Amino acid sequence: MLTLKTPIEAAPHVGPKTAERLKKLDIHYVRDLLSHWPYRYEDFRTITPIDSVMPGMSATVRGVIILIANRRSYKRRMIVTQALIKDDTGTAKILWFNQGYLTKTLQPGDEILVAGKTSEQPGITLFPSPAFEKVKDDQTHVGRLVPMYHTTERVSQRMLRYILKELVPLMQKLPEYLPAELITAHHLPSLAEAYVQMHFPTDEKTLAAARRRLQFDELLLIHLHVLQNRRSLDQAAAQPLVDTKQQLEQLQSSLPYSLTEPQQRSLDEIIADLAKERPMNRLLEGDVGSGKTVVAALASAVAISAGSQVAFMAPTEVLALQHYKTLQKLLGSERTIALWTRGYRFVSDKNGSITKATIAKRMAAGTINLVVGTHALIQEAVTFQNLHFAIIDEQHRFGVNMRKAIRDKGSHPELTPHLLSMTATPIPRTLALTLYGDLDISLIDALPGGRKKIETEIIDQRHRDKAYAFINEQVAAGRQIFVICPLIEFSDKLGYRSVTTEFERLRTTVFPDLRIGMLHGKMKTEEKEQVITAMAKHEIDILVATSVIEVGIDIPNATVMMIEGADRFGLAQLHQFRGRVGRSEHQSYCLLFTESTSEQTIQRLRALTESADGFALAEKDLELRGPGELYGTRQSGEPDVMLANLLNAPLLKETKDAAEQLLRNDPTLAAQPKLQTRLRAYTQTIHWE
Ligand code: ADP
Ligand code: MG
Repeated sequence: MLTLKTPIEAAPHVGPKTAERLKKLDIHYVRDLLSHWPYRYEDFRTITPIDSVMPGMSATVRGVIILIANRRSYKRRMIVTQALIKDDTGTAKILWFNQGYLTKTLQPGDEILVAGKTSEQPGITLFPSPAFEKVKDDQTHVGRLVPMYHTTERVSQRMLRYILKELVPLMQKLPEYLPAELITAHHLPSLAEAYVQMHFPTDEKTLAAARRRLQFDELLLIHLHVLQNRRSLDQAAAQPLVDTKQQLEQLQSSLPYSLTEPQQRSLDEIIADLAKERPMNRLLEGDVGSGKTVVAALASAVAISAGSQVAFMAPTEVLALQHYKTLQKLLGSERTIALWTRGYRFVSDKNGSITKATIAKRMAAGTINLVVGTHALIQEAVTFQNLHFAIIDEQHRFGVNMRKAIRDKGSHPELTPHLLSMTATPIPRTLALTLYGDLDISLIDALPGGRKKIETEIIDQRHRDKAYAFINEQVAAGRQIFVICPLIEFSDKLGYRSVTTEFERLRTTVFPDLRIGMLHGKMKTEEKEQVITAMAKHEIDILVATSVIEVGIDIPNATVMMIEGADRFGLAQLHQFRGRVGRSEHQSYCLLFTESTSEQTIQRLRALTESADGFALAEKDLELRGPGELYGTRQSGEPDVMLANLLNAPLLKETKDAAEQLLRNDPTLAAQPKLQTRLRAYTQTIHWE
C-alpha cells in the first residue's frame, strides 16, 4: 500500500533511475515528494484563438492535430517532430526536438492544448518546444494553473507532475492533525485539501488558502514547541550559582579596557540568572565585534567560583582554539582550562600538553574548570563532574538539542544546566518573539568606543590592480589583510575563485614579497592552528581563506577584508566577514569583488556599502533570500522548511494566540494525540535551541 513512508522508488511511475535522480533533490520517501512544493505556477488557463496569437507572444491554444511527423535534422544532429494544429480561426505549427516518441502518443485527429512562447517570425504561428497535453477532463500540464518545481538533471517538470498526479489520492487521504474547532475558527482548509491545492490548484483563491494553511501549521508548531519548552524550563530545577563579587571585580579591573554599558548590563543580567534556582535560557546577542566573549568569560568566572564547571561550545575548531586562547589569557592564571575538539585535545599545564585520557579523567573528577569544545565535546564519551553552566557561541549553527545533550554530560540528572547562547546574527524583533520566544535576550547594542566605520566598496574588476596596490600600502603600514574566496579548490563549473588558486597567484605573482597564508576547512587541525597562530602573531600579512573565518576570528590588527565572489554570500554573512576587521583604532576597509553583472546582485551588495547595521542587513537578507540562508540551515542538508514568511506579523500573532489557547487547558496536548505526534516529528527535524 502506498503511504507517506513508502520509499520513492516504490511510487508509481518511478523507476530505479528516476529514484536515484530524485534523491539528488533530497526526495527519498513519498512524503518528501509531497512536500516538494512548487516554487511558482504557470497560468495556462486562458485559451487564445490561433489567429489572435502575435509573434513572440506567450499563449495557450487549443486545436486538432492535422499532421505530425518526425524529421531528422542532419545539420543539428537531432530528431525534429513537426505538427500542425488547427482551430476555428487558423493553424499553428509546432516543433519539438529529440522527442521522436511523440508521434506514437499524438496522432492526427487528437485534440491538444499547447502553451508557450511563439517565435518572433512574422506571418506564421510557430511554437518551438511548447508544453502540451491532450484535451481531457482533468488537465495536468496545460489548460490550468500549472505547478513549476525545482528539478534536477533528467527529471523534467512534466515527469514530476506526472508522478505527483498519481499521488493525489494519497494526498486526499492525509489525516488531519489539527482540532476541528481550530480549523473552523481560523478558516483553514483541511490538510488534505491544502496538499492537493498546492500541487494542482483549482484557482488562485484555493491556492492562497492552501498556502496559508501550511504556513499556519509551520508557525503554530514553532510556537507550540517554544511555549512548551519555556514551560518545562520554568518547572525545571537548576543549581544556583551565586556570585562572590570580589573575584569578579578583581578580574574586571585587570582587563585592559572597561566594559561598555550594554556589556555590563548583559553581564549583570546573566549573573542574576545564574543565581536562580531555575535554569537560565538566555541569548546574548550583539553585532560582530561588540565584545560578547569577554562577557561570557566573566560569567564563567562567576560560575566557576560558585563551584560549577563550564562548557564553552564553539561551532568550529578554529574558533574553539581562539576562544581557548582568549579564555586562557583572561581566566587561566587561577583556573584550569582545557580544549576538546575532534582533531586536537590538550589542557594547559605547567608541564605542557597532556593526553586526552588524562583530560577526560580530570573533567570527570571536576579538576578542570572550563572546557572549550566543538561538537566533539557532545559526541564523544566524556563527562563532567559538576556541569551547571554551558555557553554556546553562534548557537544557530548547532543542529541538536544542546541543552539535553549537555545535561546528559553532567552527573546531576535532576538539575538542568544554565544555558547562555551567543550570536552575532541579528534576530529581527518579530523572530525574537517567536522562534526565540523561549529565550530571554541580552542585547549588546553598541560597539566598544574608538572604532571607526568600516569603509565598504564594490570594486570593479578593472580596478583590481588598484586594490592590490592599496593592500600593499596597508601591509607596509603594518596592517594585515584577509582575502575570502567562495571555494576551496578551483572548479570550472562554478567559475568562482578558489582559496588554493588565489593563494598561489597572490604568493607567486601579485605579492611575491609578502607573507601569505591559507586557511580552509579541509586542512588538518594542526595546520589550521599553525595558520591562526601565525596570523595572530603577525607572521602572516595576507590570509587567504574560505568562510571558515566567517565567525568569531579576532585579529585586531587586520584592516582589509577583501571578498572574492561576493555575490555567492548572503548579506548577513558578508556583514560577518566584514566584522573581522575594524576591531581596533585603525581605519578598516571591506572590498567586495563580483564577476556578476546582474543589477539585482549589485543592488544587494550595495545594501552592504550603505549600511553598517547588522539588523537592517539581516532583515534585508531575510526578505531577499529567505530564512534558510540567515539561519545557515540550507547547506547542512536540513529540509528547506520554511514556507512561512517569518516577517508576516499578523500570521505570527494569529498562530501564537492559537498555540497559547491550545496549551492553556492542555499543556502537554494530551487530548490531541495526532497534533502531539506531529509536533514531535517537527521538532526532531528542527531544533531552534
Ligand atoms: P564578538 O562579539 O564579535 O564575539 P569579541 O568578543 O571577539 O566580539 O570582541 C571583539 C574585540 O573587542 C576583541 O578584540 C575584544 O578584546 C575587544 N573588546 C571587547 N570588549 C571591549 C571593550 N569594552 N573595550 C574595548 N575593546 C573590547
Ligand atoms: Mg565572537
